[in-house]
Amino acid sequence: MIHPQFDEPAGKARGVMFDLDGTLILSNRELGEYRVLPSAVETLTELKARGIPFLALTNGSAYPAARQAPRLRALGLPIDDGNLFTPNSVAANIFRQRGFDKVMVLGTEGVRSALKELGVATCQPGDPGAKTAPAIYVAWHPDCTMEDIHAAAEAVLNGGAFFTASDVPFFATQSGRSFGFSCAICGAIARVTGLEPEVTGKPSLQAMQFIADQLGIDMHEVMVLGDDPKVETEMARLGGAIGVGVTTGTTSLDEWAQAEQSRRPHRVIDNVREILDLGLLA
Ligand SMILES: [Mg+2]
Repeated sequence: MIHPQFDEPAGKARGVMFDLDGTLILSNRELGEYRVLPSAVETLTELKARGIPFLALTNGSAYPAARQAPRLRALGLPIDDGNLFTPNSVAANIFRQRGFDKVMVLGTEGVRSALKELGVATCQPGDPGAKTAPAIYVAWHPDCTMEDIHAAAEAVLNGGAFFTASDVPFFATQSGRSFGFSCAICGAIARVTGLEPEVTGKPSLQAMQFIADQLGIDMHEVMVLGDDPKVETEMARLGGAIGVGVTTGTTSLDEWAQAEQSRRPHRVIDNVREILDLGLLA
């Protein structure tokens, strides 16, 4: 259903960004399984047939896109490796632009190898020289230790630039809301150092600009689809894009209705396929 109370005027979109968890799929973190949400496959297939560019940006930083995209294709979702992005993709872009020659990573091997593939040299807490790393990046790190937090805090206090993949406390899974490790780790480092991290994933403006660049259009021409007002819709509003909320993830219709203006979507739908019926695609 397209909910009529969300009727704010919006421009036409020339490209679409999809969130993954709660929007196209629901994952089961424990088993590493994905379940595709209703109509997701046919919606992407239809966009492809119409020649409307789309991509997916997840805040999940655990795996490089080249490992995650084939698993999505196995479910029937027509997402190429080159059309799937994570906060690591945005982070690598920022690190290269700012000339950081080494980045201390609090994250799994998957995070480090993703950055390495994107041309960023990394080190881990405890490595020689880690305490003076010019940048610190916190991502998916379920095995984080107090020593990791200590080393990162030291590096931040030594003047290292502080980044995180995600500052979101929870995300949607098959078994309900799941814990966002980066948010908790950054909370500890911020408490010690008094400094907050710069977010590379959603809802940062950097992520929004990155998406528009990848689609080859302006930010206001992007339709941003997601299940979380604090993540996708906030980012859409920051960049002047078109925000569409779905009720298949963490946010119910009532909760969407309560979102403040800076996080309020232009439209709310119950099924991802309804983006084709909104009259907002150029
Ligand atoms: Mg989501």
